[in-house]
Amino acid sequence: MTPALALEMAAASPLAASLRAADALYRARLNRCASCNGLREGVLCAWCGCFVQFRALSKTNYCPSPSGDKWRE
Ligand code: SF4
Repeated sequence: MTPALALEMAAASPLAASLRAADALYRARLNRCASCNGLREGVLCAWCGCFVQFRALSKTNYCPSPSGDKWRE
């Protein structure tokens, strides 16, 4: 799956608006993923196996990096 397709599918997710991260937070998270050496093929997190475009969608999710939550840096 390409990053563009993963983004498109995540945008169409049925996740309730009340559970979603705000757009700015979502973009910030994905920017951190884009510069992370744990990102594979532009879509998969090496630490949890998630598609980051989906993982970042939920406001209560966190980055699983063993060196610390990169979304909070
Ligand atoms: S370790 Fe964190 S920042 Fe890196 S790809 Fe996974 S979720 Fe993204």
